[in-house]
Amino acid sequence: MRVSQILLNIISNAVKFTEKGSITIHCSAEAETPHSLRAVFRIRDTGIGISAAKQASVFERFTQADAAISRKYGGSGLGLAIARELAQVMGGSIELDSKPGKGTEFLVKLPFVKASAHAEPDQPEATATTGCAGCRVLVVEDNVLNQKMTRLMLENNGYTAFGVNSGTKALSWLRKNTADLILMDIQIPGMDGYAATRKIREELGLQTPIIAITAHAFSGEKRNAWPRA
Ligand code: ADP
Repeated sequence: MRVSQILLNIISNAVKFTEKGSITIHCSAEAETPHSLRAVFRIRDTGIGISAAKQASVFERFTQADAAISRKYGGSGLGLAIARELAQVMGGSIELDSKPGKGTEFLVKLPFVKASAHAEPDQPEATATTGCAGCRVLVVEDNVLNQKMTRLMLENNGYTAFGVNSGTKALSWLRKNTADLILMDIQIPGMDGYAATRKIREELGLQTPIIAITAHAFSGEKRNAWPRA
């Protein structure tokens, strides 16, 4: 789970900051012993790049490489800080090499212990599906990868998940379909999560529970919470 969270963050940045060209993902093993190895992931893009001056600070919480860039591309400035912390907790590292206008390469190194050849296969994890199996969840999230990941996690846990990428689409989806729960990203372009939630309550008159998704876990965001039903 941690590995996919790290890679998902770096790959979704590569997609976000590369308007033309390509994104290459390469994986190899190094320092392999009979019991362990270090997995090396290289994620290379031909996007806008990051200036040398900003490269160290992109791993700090709430730092975005450039205010103008963050206005254009959006984002919370949290992802790489969390990705690096996760990698370090696992005993690994994340490095960055980038040239403005040419592209960026992230190098992720993570140590793994090999499963013993004689180990019992893992028992499938018990999933907490009681009472949830088949529940319909609408995921309102503009980031394609985050939306896909959230839907996959829900489906793996027995929910039936649907996705839309804007507040306007959420409203039109809810006019024609029903949901038992809505996961609402707050920072979606156009009609944001707050406005969409107000319309769901006031215009559509729906009391469907809505859970906000945000990387801005500040008390200010909590105070902005919409009126409860
Ligand atoms: P977010 O993308 O949510 O702003 P991140 O911590 O994931 O936050 O990234 C921090 C900043 O690093 C981004 O705002 C962007 O300016 C820069 N950045 C990250 N990945 C790339 C990339 N592949 N190409 C260009 N800039 C990047």
